[in-house]
Amino acid sequence: MSKKVEQVKTLIIGSGPAGYTAAIYAARADLKPVLYTGMEPGGQLTTTTEVDNFPGYPEGIDGPTMMIQLQQQAERFGTDVRIGMVTAVELSKELGGIHKVTVDNDKIIEAHTVIISTGATAKYLNIPSEQRLRGGGVSACAVCDGFFYKGQDVAIVGGGDTAAEEASYLANICNKVTMLIRKDYMRASKAMQHRVNSLPNLEVRYNTQVDEVLGEQVVEGLRMVNNQTNEKEEIAITGLFIAIGHKPNTDIFKGQIDMDETGYILTKGKSTKTNLPGVFACGDAQDKEYRQAVTAAGTGCMAALDAERYLATVESPEEVA
Ligand code: NDP
Repeated sequence: MSKKVEQVKTLIIGSGPAGYTAAIYAARADLKPVLYTGMEPGGQLTTTTEVDNFPGYPEGIDGPTMMIQLQQQAERFGTDVRIGMVTAVELSKELGGIHKVTVDNDKIIEAHTVIISTGATAKYLNIPSEQRLRGGGVSACAVCDGFFYKGQDVAIVGGGDTAAEEASYLANICNKVTMLIRKDYMRASKAMQHRVNSLPNLEVRYNTQVDEVLGEQVVEGLRMVNNQTNEKEEIAITGLFIAIGHKPNTDIFKGQIDMDETGYILTKGKSTKTNLPGVFACGDAQDKEYRQAVTAAGTGCMAALDAERYLATVESPEEVA
């Protein structure tokens, strides 16, 4: 049976702060955006409790509510928000070409411009006690949730730049930070290692992994294991931060869009342009450095402006030099 085909001016893939902000700007510019939410409508923020660092919310706001409000704002200007998962893409390499995007293996969208805002997913250890206590003291974002552990004892897992940066952040606000690194060295840059080692309330444990996160409803402690000696040790903590990397949700675009070796989409200069004309990328799918809701929203705005300009160029090339 042949698939249903629909033509749209601007297709936005993903429903985090980047996608919805792109939608707000695209809808106001009359690009008639259609936005597909993906499997996790609202994106990573729907897994956070309180968002205290997004400007404009002096009392803070919980992540799911914030995402509903962003959706409502996008819909207010006419964005067509649909629940659906992009399952295949056939992106044009031609200026003014049509990009074919399959949704739910069932429907084909032919789009003049595509804005990719598929985000990234934090990696977890995937041990049962960690999964059970997600949202109850286990977090994958120190900048989002660290504040709730002010003056308390916490631990962080990972030895890369993110872990080092987040461990330093936590050391500034928490009483004590224990950093668990599974190897006998830290992968983070020398500068970050220096910073970590200079903090008196931060203890680095090498060759150390999580054996079990302790606590029924909330995190109360951590059992660590030394992977050289198999020796186990328990410490009392109220928060456990997992900082072992993120995976950008870009698998579906592999082989068609230029990416770095870890799958982050490469954008040109300060723009959101990819190597393909009419395809733009914003938010965590192209940003491994900042990864904040507000920076994702900023690049979402940029993607819509880039798409608008692109459409003007292909529709009336003589008007836009
Ligand atoms: P990385 O992949 O660099 O580091 C991940 C860390 O987590 C490694 O120490 C790794 O250990 C550890 N790890 C992975 N899986 C497990 C596991 N199952 N159990 C225990 N530990 C585990 O990820 P980052 O997010 O730190 O960084 C991603 C990229 O972004 C890097 O290129 C980084 O340089 C960059 N970045 C740059 C920043 C900056 O310049 N300011 C800030 C943040 C990130 P192992 O070493 O044993 O593999």
